[in-house]
Amino acid sequence: MTRRIFRAAMTVALAVLLAAMTLIVGVLHGYFQSRTAADLNQLAAAAARGAETDGLDYFDGLRVSSRLTWVAEDGTVLYDNWQDAAEMENHSGREEIVQAQAQGRGTAERWSDTLEQKALYCAVRLDDGSVVRAASTQYSIWAMAAQGLQPMLLVLAAAMALAAVLASRLSRSIVRPINELDLNDPDSGSGELYDELTPLLTRLRLQSREIRRQMEQLRQRQKEFTAITDNMSEGFLVLDTRTRVLSNNSAALRLLETDETPVPGETSALVLSREENFRRCVEEALAGRRSERMVRRENLCRQILASPVVQDGHLTGAVVVILDVTEREQRESLRREFTANVSHELKTPLTAISGTAEILENGTVRPEDVSHFAGNIHREAGRLIELVNDIIKLSRLDEGGPDGSDGAWETVELYPLAQSVLEQVRPAAEKRSVTLTLKGGPAQARGVLQILEEMLYNLCDNAVAYNRDGGSVCVTVEQADGHARVTVEDTGVGIPPEVQDRVFERFYRVDKSHSRGGTGLGLSIVKHGASYLGASVALHSEVGKGSVFTLDFPPVTG
Ligand code: ADP
Repeated sequence: MTRRIFRAAMTVALAVLLAAMTLIVGVLHGYFQSRTAADLNQLAAAAARGAETDGLDYFDGLRVSSRLTWVAEDGTVLYDNWQDAAEMENHSGREEIVQAQAQGRGTAERWSDTLEQKALYCAVRLDDGSVVRAASTQYSIWAMAAQGLQPMLLVLAAAMALAAVLASRLSRSIVRPINELDLNDPDSGSGELYDELTPLLTRLRLQSREIRRQMEQLRQRQKEFTAITDNMSEGFLVLDTRTRVLSNNSAALRLLETDETPVPGETSALVLSREENFRRCVEEALAGRRSERMVRRENLCRQILASPVVQDGHLTGAVVVILDVTEREQRESLRREFTANVSHELKTPLTAISGTAEILENGTVRPEDVSHFAGNIHREAGRLIELVNDIIKLSRLDEGGPDGSDGAWETVELYPLAQSVLEQVRPAAEKRSVTLTLKGGPAQARGVLQILEEMLYNLCDNAVAYNRDGGSVCVTVEQADGHARVTVEDTGVGIPPEVQDRVFERFYRVDKSHSRGGTGLGLSIVKHGASYLGASVALHSEVGKGSVFTLDFPPVTG
């Protein structure tokens, strides 16, 4: 900026200086020209008068700076104060002489060999026809310009110095308000602003408004993005080609079980998890291949999906998605376990049936024993049916409840239901002299009657089956804290504390050798039924003393 102003100032100064110089030299040249012509005319006239009166004597002792020449009528040079007249050639042809002889006076301007420069000539004719001529060198324009060159250079130097100071001050005064501008808030400028800045300020104002608007939009989007990603149960990481985390959500850190908070663009993803499979996934994605692996730790299971990110044909990073598949894996393993158990449970009665049928088929059985073998087949088939029924009940509960018209939700009176269930188990109880008691009063629960009955039946059936001979079972139905509660209490063998959680698992039996031949699915049905109805099951048991199963139902509303 300073240099440009300096150059502009210098150009102006130089132009002005040259114009002034041309003008001055032109005017002075004209002035001196006319002065010289007038002086020469006077001198020529005076010399002509002197020559007329005194002849050649007039010129003796005459001291003049100009050249004086006296030329006879025939052109012979009679006298010249600068050269020997005798040696000079005939002057009759000189322009000013010819003019003077014709008109009395003559002037001419030309190169003089004698003076060796341009000269002005003025000639005056005498009465005798001779001519006196005065000549003087002229001030040439170039000579005058050359004389003016030195002062001009001085003025030019002064102009340069002045232009430099001016340029630096000017540029500073132009630039200062611009430098002091607050680009975020152009209106708040404290420095003195000049009018020429107004268009710039207007543009800045518009631009800063636009930038603010866009920033606000970006912030809003970022907020939305963070809100979405932070509420995702899946974790995600965006990585650059050098495994550095560019973006992540909180679920990713939770699922990788890391305490590190990655610094975007700095922290390597490999610092977040040291698991071999995670590292491989990241490396494969950054090599341009999609990768999928499982990371298992203790009883947690994560699925890692890593995909390369390609932009304009170039690999720019990778996206890693982390899924918590623990539950899925557990379900899968439970399913496998269940299938294996079902096969096993079905195989036992089927083998018995098949074996007995084979004996009967061979015809080796005495006629009086046939009914015994047939009874075996009947009993084992009954077990099979019971088992299949329980499996069907469980799978229906798994699928979301019993189907059919009897699966409708209703408000069920629990006291009469408990009464009816106790009647169902009474024959078994009487066989072992187990006393059945029902306590409490009316209580209501919302649910599916079939499921509720099944749950109560299983609890009462177990209470009788795992009781001691002559023991007792007490069922209490009550309204506690605004909700219904059913308690089934027995005086049986009890359940050891370490397996109290496990008795609700499918096919789990505390002591298989002492099993009374149940399916091992009864308490599973109770647990699944309770969760389907929104109820809870609690178990308190002491080995040798008995067990208490408590069902708490949600309050009936509306
Ligand atoms: P099962 O058909 O074997 O009775 P359940 O699922 O109903 O299957 O019960 C699982 C196991 O829990 C039983 O095998 C038994 O060992 C134990 N159990 C259930 N109820 C009682 C109870 N009231 N007293 C003692 N043990 C019980």
